[in-house]
Amino acid sequence: MPTSPRKPDWTPDDAGDAFASRIVSGVAGGHDGLDTGQHAAATPGRGPARRPLSIDDYAAGVLAGDRAVLARAITLIESNAPAHFETAQEVLRRLLPHSGNALRVGITGVPGAGKSTLIEALGLALIAAGHRVAVLAIDPTSSLTRGSILGDKTRMEGLSRAAEAFIRPSPTGGVLGGVARKTRETMLVCEAAGFDVILVETVGTGQSEVTVRSMVDFFLLVLIPGGGDELQGIKKGVVELADAIAINKADGDNRIRAEAARAEYNRALHYLTPVTDGWHTRAYTCSAETGEGVANLWAVIERFRERTAESGAFAARRRAQAREWLHTLLDEQLRAAFYDRPAVRAALPAIEAGVMAGELPATAAARQLLALLDG
Ligand code: GDP
Repeated sequence: MPTSPRKPDWTPDDAGDAFASRIVSGVAGGHDGLDTGQHAAATPGRGPARRPLSIDDYAAGVLAGDRAVLARAITLIESNAPAHFETAQEVLRRLLPHSGNALRVGITGVPGAGKSTLIEALGLALIAAGHRVAVLAIDPTSSLTRGSILGDKTRMEGLSRAAEAFIRPSPTGGVLGGVARKTRETMLVCEAAGFDVILVETVGTGQSEVTVRSMVDFFLLVLIPGGGDELQGIKKGVVELADAIAINKADGDNRIRAEAARAEYNRALHYLTPVTDGWHTRAYTCSAETGEGVANLWAVIERFRERTAESGAFAARRRAQAREWLHTLLDEQLRAAFYDRPAVRAALPAIEAGVMAGELPATAAARQLLALLDG
């Protein structure tokens, strides 16, 4: 792919210089050279058609760290076309033994907290220290706003130009579960391509934090000093998922308020059960803008990795996450298989109507429908 180094990998071919101002829409086929079963003619406005890649091409390209192939492999994974599913899964199966070597860090916070500024600062510092950084996003609102995370031209500009960074916005369309599957698989592909730090960003909306927590080693909550009762406005449940809290924007006039917020959070954290065995979640101040405290945040994350690797908590969490992931997929596929059954489709409307009219107890209705699985 003739990608200019100044453009993020996910920029559409026809985006011209307006890089990062638009994002790849949900892909159903005919994109990025994926084999749609149709003649691979050039799509007007999308540049020349590219040669379809074989499974071997995908695997070898990703393992060689070829960014263009990596981008296409992710597009394949993100595809909603049934024809791509088997190929994507086979590519993943090949890459899986080469994944798992990165440190996976989740970053959440309300819009405006400074997540992308922090990711930019942290990412550039990590690159300077010799790391290769992939930034992925789970944005539950992206199907509405067409990618509010990472979709903005001004965000992470430095990082998006760095050869050692790879930025991929949230796949658009679909429900959180589907977006999460794609992000999780994208993470594995990035690891196979040699990225050793994966930053998964999400907006603080409640549900997506739990999803991101379930796929990362370390979870960072970014907050800003708000004054007053610092625990107001952010759900306690989200605080309970965090391995560290970064009180951002601790600069200028905000410095004192940020220090006060840090102290207040540390007092509150004292009473919470830490989310990771053998690790105490603490609050730290930083300024993503000036860079102050950002190196310390990374030092905390590295200390976490060392401690939990020693205690076994790190590996135990990864195993538990893999198991949980299997069960999530099973649940998803069982539901889909159930609702797809012609007998269920045929019977459901009448049974639903019976339940709504108060004529049929819901429990009996559910049993009646589930019995159709045996048929
Ligand atoms: P996000 O929505 O959480 O990704 O937040 P952004 O990174 O887009 O930042 C929101 C606004 O806060 C932007 O105008 C940033 O320039 C600003 N900002 C981010 N970090 C800091 C910081 O450490 N100090 C100050 N003063 N402003 C910041």
